[in-house]
Amino acid sequence: MNTNRKLTIALVAHDARKADMVEWAVFNAGFLSHHHLVCTGTTGGLIRDAFLNKGIRAEITCMNSGPMGGDAEIAALVVRKQVDLAIFLIDDLSAQPHEADIQMLLRQCRIHNVPIACNRYSADLMITSSLWNDKNYVPTEPKYAPFKRN
Ligand code: PGA
Repeated sequence: MNTNRKLTIALVAHDARKADMVEWAVFNAGFLSHHHLVCTGTTGGLIRDAFLNKGIRAEITCMNSGPMGGDAEIAALVVRKQVDLAIFLIDDLSAQPHEADIQMLLRQCRIHNVPIACNRYSADLMITSSLWNDKNYVPTEPKYAPFKRN
């Protein structure tokens, strides 16, 4: 599935999920190579190396490493509406030193209505969605309304 416009796609994977991310990115290189990939430092470096090994050309921008502020940099891009979708493979089985930044990235994606996949299944569904090419589709913004229980 290809889209009519070039998307900016954020890719972030914690250490225990990096192999998963690289495998997913290589499998989906045909799609990803048409878009701009914005990654945390180590994740981006691994994807770039894997793509180079396979002769795949792609536009990859690497931010700082996650623990050094990479997630925060990507969150800032989300706030500026410069990210179309994010794939964030989180290690849910170990504590992360930059938990605050992780939560910030997740929260800013929710606030700014950026689709974010935290597993490969969701990522597959997101990148194959026909909505990317539906010019009549307008994403509904989140509503925050007071709720009164009876
Ligand atoms: P990294 O950062 O790609 O630089 O390892 C990911 C993260 O830990 O959030």
